[in-house]
Amino acid sequence: MEVSTRIIDMPLATPFTIARGTQTAARNVVVELRHGGAIGVGAAAPSAFYGELPEHMVATAARLAECLGDDPFAIEQTFDRMNRSIRFNPAAKAAIDMAMWDLAGKLCDMPVHRMLGLSGLPLPRTSFTIGIDRPETMAQRASEAARRFTVLKVKLGSAADLEIVSAIRRSTDATIRVDANAAWTPKEAVALAEGIAPLGVELLEQPVPPWDLDGLRFVRDRVPMPVVADESAVTWEDVPRLAGTVDGINIKLMKCGGITGALRMIRAARACGLRVMLGCMVETSISVTAAAQIAGLVDWADLDGNLLLSHDPFRGVSVQDGGELVLPDAPGLGVLPSE
Ligand SMILES: [Mg+2]
Repeated sequence: MEVSTRIIDMPLATPFTIARGTQTAARNVVVELRHGGAIGVGAAAPSAFYGELPEHMVATAARLAECLGDDPFAIEQTFDRMNRSIRFNPAAKAAIDMAMWDLAGKLCDMPVHRMLGLSGLPLPRTSFTIGIDRPETMAQRASEAARRFTVLKVKLGSAADLEIVSAIRRSTDATIRVDANAAWTPKEAVALAEGIAPLGVELLEQPVPPWDLDGLRFVRDRVPMPVVADESAVTWEDVPRLAGTVDGINIKLMKCGGITGALRMIRAARACGLRVMLGCMVETSISVTAAAQIAGLVDWADLDGNLLLSHDPFRGVSVQDGGELVLPDAPGLGVLPSE
């Protein structure tokens, strides 16, 4: 199999702020795998927070390409070889892994979710994310988004958190999930959760720093809504120690190395009695569609990364009114160029 990579730069529709900073553009790396006459496509959305830069991805993908054999269906074996070859770089692995699934599906003339035996499973509706801004601006964006989405994920971690959730609740009765991206201390998280609980908040994501598992448990024992780990839940190896510490985990292909890694993580989470969210970075439809292929296995979806782009160069999974995810009925990932 041959691998080629190209970097694509995409401006966001509006600047996107979370507790760690503001993003105005996304740089993704598209990977193509060629086998005979077939092409499998994948994409990486590298995140500096998880130690990856797009500039390194091309060299990393070339190194990972050495792990590919001649059998396009040897996906588990390739995934293990990639993990033995390079310890980190999960987004680079994710791009190659989803390209392998795309290729295998095209060779079988079957969508990936059907190959995985997931036909007929209902997909959870995706949330739409509201980045940090002034409370009135966030409330305005929430009220606009609520025309299309029944679930909103609200980014918190600023001084105005209670004011933000109050303003959004006044603007819409959509389901609200909040995500602090590790910005609070355990005590701040409990105090804030008490304030926002009467406003109807479905869940609380990553209230405290990723390494503070005692802090996560402290919060979980004291707040009324489920606590979900995101930055604390990177790969399947993180899952057992989160059992009893949180109620659920947020799995992202870019953290765990693709569809194969995500499937391992979902199984580990279920074995530990954890609920599962499937999330994403700011990404094109290639990798959002790859995640959507396995969304039938999870409780909560946050697959809106492609919707934050001013222009998505690809099309795949679509979002119907209310946030309903509709998978393409085409072989592999079912992703095509958008024009
Ligand atoms: Mg999160």
